[in-house]
Amino acid sequence: MYAIRDCAILNAWVDHVRTSDGQKIFYLYLCDNLLESLDKNELAAILAHEIAHVEFFEKNGSRMLGVHWLVDERAAQLTSPEGVVSMLRKSKKAGMNSRAV
Ligand SMILES: [Zn+2]
Repeated sequence: MYAIRDCAILNAWVDHVRTSDGQKIFYLYLCDNLLESLDKNELAAILAHEIAHVEFFEKNGSRMLGVHWLVDERAAQLTSPEGVVSMLRKSKKAGMNSRAV
């Protein structure tokens, strides 16, 4: 996991690399302003959201970027619906690019 400083927007994302033996290593990036802007339930929700991207990638070979509601539904299962809704409201209000997360 990497913390990114001085982000212009609230954001988090996952990416991966393949090793020479074909294994995938996932990296989670979090803008440090998330730590200041979200409470612990909202932070858990965004971490679960990114974990859900990894689950979908492992299952379907895609991060499911076009169907974020499925990722958020899974995040709600992993954490709480209230935390996900609150995170989404706060991130939308703060101008988070939901297509990028
Ligand atoms: Zn996302």
